[in-house]
Order: sequence, then C-alpha cells, then structure tokens
Amino acid sequence: MSLLDALKKESDQALKEKPETPEEKVEKEPISEKEKVETQDLASKDEKVKEEVLEAETFDEDTVPDVVDEIFNHALKKHASDIHFKPKENKFEVYFRIDGTMVEYKVFDKIYHHPIIARIKIISGLKIDEHRLPQDGKCSFESKDKKEVDLRVSILPTQYGEKVVIRLLEKDPKMVELRDLGMLPNILLKIEEHLKSSYGMILAVGPTGSGKSTSLFSMLSTFNAEDYNISTLEDPIEYKIKDVTQTQINPDIGFDFSDGLRTIVRQDPDIIMVGEIRDQKTASLAIESALTGHLVFSTLHTNTAVGTIQRLLNMDIDRFLISAAVKVIISQRLARKVCSNCREKYPVPEKYHELIKKEVNIDPKNAFFYKANGCKECNNIGYSGRIGLFEVLEMSPAIEELIINNASNAEIEAQAVKEGMILLRKDALYKAVTGDITIEEAIRVMA
Ligand SMILES: [Zn+2]
Repeated sequence: MSLLDALKKESDQALKEKPETPEEKVEKEPISEKEKVETQDLASKDEKVKEEVLEAETFDEDTVPDVVDEIFNHALKKHASDIHFKPKENKFEVYFRIDGTMVEYKVFDKIYHHPIIARIKIISGLKIDEHRLPQDGKCSFESKDKKEVDLRVSILPTQYGEKVVIRLLEKDPKMVELRDLGMLPNILLKIEEHLKSSYGMILAVGPTGSGKSTSLFSMLSTFNAEDYNISTLEDPIEYKIKDVTQTQINPDIGFDFSDGLRTIVRQDPDIIMVGEIRDQKTASLAIESALTGHLVFSTLHTNTAVGTIQRLLNMDIDRFLISAAVKVIISQRLARKVCSNCREKYPVPEKYHELIKKEVNIDPKNAFFYKANGCKECNNIGYSGRIGLFEVLEMSPAIEELIINNASNAEIEAQAVKEGMILLRKDALYKAVTGDITIEEAIRVMA
C-alpha cells in the first residue's frame, strides 16, 4: 500500500469514526458562532476538502512520536507548567500555560488529533481504545538537554473528542534564592534577622498559587543542613533538599500533618517545616513546638498578614500563645513580571495620581508606569517570569499587647504600619512604578 493510500485509509477511518463521537450530535444543535460562518463554509466547502487532503498528505503517522516529543521539549524550554491539547470542530490546538497565562503553541490539522492522543495514552499507560470515559495517567520524560520531568496526564471526553491536559512537574526544580523572591531590601534584611532565631514561628500566608511554599523553601535553604536537624512534613514533596529529612504526609492512610508533627518533635529537630496548618490539632502542636525551642515554618490559607492572627484565634489557639510563638507573618501574592526585553515606560495617567502620591509617596508627575507589547523572549505576551508581592508583619511588644487585649484587625494593622509594615497594595504599586509589573497587574493582584 502506498503512503497516499495509507493516508487515504486513515482519513476514511477518521471520517467513519466521526458519527460515533458526541461531536456529531452537538453539531446538529444550532450554534450561533457556526451560523455566522455557515454561508462562507458552504461556499468554500470544496476548497476546504482539498485543503484538508493536502494537509493530510504531509501527515505521516510514523512521525507522531517525534511530534509529541517536540511539543514536550518546547514546553520544557518555555518553562510551561501545563500543556493543553484542545480538539475543536475541525482543528486541534495545543496551548502552553506559562507563568499562569495560556499561550498558543500550534494549531494542527484535525487529522493529528487521534494519533497524538493515542501516543500520549501509550506513554502514560492508558487505554487507547477508551474514548468515552475520563482517564488519568502519568509518565516521565527526559528533554533534549537531559532535564527530567514527571507528566501527570488527564484525559476528558468532549463534544469534539478527547481533550488532554498534562501537568509538567520538574524532578529537581531550581530553588529560588531568598534574595530573588522580590522582597524590598529592608524587608529582606528583617527576614534574614528572624532566620537567626532559635525558636518561634515563621508563617507564609496567601491564597493557592501565591508562592508560599517557594518562600518557605527559599528560607529553609539558607540554613546549612549539615549543622541543623531539619525535618519537613509535606503534601506533596515539591523540592528535594540535600540533608533535610522530608516526609510526605498521606491523609488517605490516616497520616496527617498533626500525626507527623507529633513524631517529628520526638526526633530532636532544630527546624521544622509543616507544609500547611489546616486544623486546630496541627496549629496547636506547631505553636507548642515553636515555644519549646524549635524554629517552625508553615503556611496558612489567609489573605492578609493580620488576618492570620484571627485565623489562629478561630482555631482555638490561646492569645498568649500566638503572641509568644509567632515571630513573623509573610503575606504574599505572585504577579507576572512585565517583559524586561520589550517594556516601555509611559507617564502615570492622571487618574492614578492621587493613589501614587498617597501610597508610594512620590510625585506622580515625574513617575512612570510600564507596559510591554510582546517580543520573542516573552512569547509575544508582554510578561515574562513572576515576582512576589509581600506584606510582612513582625511581632512587637505593642502588637503582642494588642493581640492579648483582643484588639481588632484594623487596630493591629494600624500599629504594624506605624512600625513600618508595607501593605501588599503599596508593595504592588511600588513595583509598578519601578518597572517590575504593569499597573494592570498591580490592580489585578490587589483585588
Ligand atoms: Zn517581551
């Protein structure tokens, strides 16, 4: 059989398979977007068929494994966190998620859909002939430059056939240095000072995806693991650190953060990292450890530094214990950095003058914002990499006093600001006028 025959057969098969897919059923329903192009579709139908056949002629099933490898290599090179394989009515799109933004990688002819999905199923040990049920699998991949990643594969049937999303987990992700997180110099100095303590609690707080664990690991990595007994409890273990005892908790088998913590304190640790404080038991054990000669790092899911104190109170932790144990609370967000290669500055628009004057304390008439229209370096999206925005509350005698006397969040925050705490929105606006982020990103993150 000639190659062309084989391709024709492939096309025939694809056509035959079509009526069985849910896509066909949906097509009968009127779709407004479809209606718009319907006339045009009819007019160019012959041409379109020809076009598809032409594209199909360049399709060679034997090259599919290489095509898939190429997609993975590219995704790794671009530091994508996920790859999305989206089937559409008559095309097949591949997107990368880079720094939180979806970026189109390539649009394939629909003929690639089944072979590419089949290839992904083969390498991740999934059923090739199952098209109607969702499937989850995993595998690993080594890139051209010998970088290893774990791939978590998720397959979902849709009206246009199976859609695949692959999460890329680097096996040895590069740890971000504490000084590269984006903390203003005076904040960085304060944090470094707290890291010299031999006991107490250091908390990183924020919503999901705000970079809390990255901050914790950056802080942990400043310690020489040979000189200290460092133990962590994690879910999951994200970074492997040499000479640090890392334990994966597993709530499914009844091994949670509080169980792990109870055991770890018996192993004479100097520094303890608890991935997350989710419940009263863990909170109370962590506070107790912090008060009995251990430096304890953890995260909480709260929106502000001050709100963390309230959260601990809501977990039935005694006011005295909170004020005595907690040393510093780092509330944070992640913002997309404006591409430094193609950014341009422009005068601060008048509507922001008041805000800039009040929050950043500079003359807005002499200040600039930055924007980027996109270049090759930033995949034409104008953003490249991310930076942390921080609000750091340090415990002080005055703040301890306020906590013990049942003061409101507003009172505690006012005192912290008086003592030099920079609120998150101020940090965001400061980073907008210094060219790290756009004003749009600052506003998005502040919201
Ligand atoms: Zn750029």
